[in-house]
Amino acid sequence: LADKLQGALKKLKSKGKLTEKDVKEAMREVKLALLEADVNFKVVKDFINKVKERAIGIEVMESLTPGQQVIKIVNEELTALMGTTQSKLSFSSKPPTVYMLVGLQGAGKTTTSGKLGGNLKKMGKRPLLVAGDIYRPAAIKQLQVVGSQLDVPVFSMGDKVSPVNIAKAGVEHAKQHGNDVVIIDTAGRLHIDENLMDELEDIKKEVKPQEILLVVDAMTGQDAVNVAESFNEKLGIDGVILTKLDGDTRGGAALSVRAVTQKPIKFVGMGEKLTDLEPFYPDRMASRILGMGDVLSLIEKAQANFDAKKAKELEKKIRSQEFSFEDFLEQLQQMKSMGSMSQLLEMIPGMNSKQLRNMEIDDKELIHIEAMIQSMTKEERRNPSMINGSRRKRIAKGSGMPVSKVNSLLKQFAQTKKMMKQFADMGKSMKKGGKIR
Ligand code: GDP
Ligand code: MG
Repeated sequence: LADKLQGALKKLKSKGKLTEKDVKEAMREVKLALLEADVNFKVVKDFINKVKERAIGIEVMESLTPGQQVIKIVNEELTALMGTTQSKLSFSSKPPTVYMLVGLQGAGKTTTSGKLGGNLKKMGKRPLLVAGDIYRPAAIKQLQVVGSQLDVPVFSMGDKVSPVNIAKAGVEHAKQHGNDVVIIDTAGRLHIDENLMDELEDIKKEVKPQEILLVVDAMTGQDAVNVAESFNEKLGIDGVILTKLDGDTRGGAALSVRAVTQKPIKFVGMGEKLTDLEPFYPDRMASRILGMGDVLSLIEKAQANFDAKKAKELEKKIRSQEFSFEDFLEQLQQMKSMGSMSQLLEMIPGMNSKQLRNMEIDDKELIHIEAMIQSMTKEERRNPSMINGSRRKRIAKGSGMPVSKVNSLLKQFAQTKKMMKQFADMGKSMKKGGKIR
């Protein structure tokens, strides 16, 4: 009988978890979304497998469908994959800091050189742009126009001097003129070729840039992977700038490039204007790639409602003094999966963080408390006043704690309960005037 009961319980429990079927179904949608966003097929496959592994068996939140829950996980993983936090430019301890912009023709190197110079100037730096593309007609002129629009100086030597020598002379010029940042605009090709790579390598050797930034057109989709791979292998890049995200591309290139090179995306180009350069935000990009901004905000709302509902239930219990050791135990266990004690206590209506800071609670203590509550019967948890001397002894034995600890837990719980009710009532009377809910 006990076995049967356990089996039934297990079934009930597993209903609240993501099954393989749930995950498979939702992942089919995600896969389509990623492929539509032009993420490289292999990258998609790896990603899907990773998420599948993580998702199966995870608890489904009351307020989400299994599908929504999977997508929530996908979004988190996608964000994590693209770096979670924003990756900033590094500066050399010995100025000038040299950045070298590389990439295919038309990716946006020249424009981005200017944008970057403009941004750095706003930060109080004194950038110098160096015209290293001697092949494309009017490339030098283009950089000069950009520079004059931003009032950032441009160093050029025409198209008869080799790019390596121009770069070298540019850095020298910067040293002499007090420019603490040098941005080298380089030439691109329609396709990756040996000559281009050799030239870039030579420049790298000569000026030892602080960062080599690969400029990638977000609209290139699948090709971005090959481009990023070759540039990274040949040259070694430090970061990526993704341009033309103002177009209607979903930006799958971001994911592919990141997955292939493991190098951070540092900026995104959001337009043709010289101010249209923004830091890269992994979470925004994840939503964009999934094409699920609406779904995601829905999920966020559902989650907030879910928390609010729980908090309300808790508040009701506290106010009616029904808050029991059972609730307490549930909170303790949730807390372990959620984070800190103070976070939990902040959920209690009426509590403020100042009051919380005076209540130092350490983790060991929590483990002891949990053990003691677990040694109580259901009835005892609901109705602690029935816990007499012999019951206290039994609980102490069961949890491996001295009776004195059980006594103080019971005493503290009674006090806390009273205090919590006071806070809750106080909170309510305060809210009445302000009409918060
Ligand atoms: P390069 O060959 O790599 O130097 O590329 P360019 O800087 O000359 O840029 C090629 C074209 O892309 C130009 O018409 C730019 O105005 C345009 N471009 C560059 N970045 C962006 C961007 O972020 N958004 C849009 N819409 N256009 C861009
Ligand atoms: Mg150019």
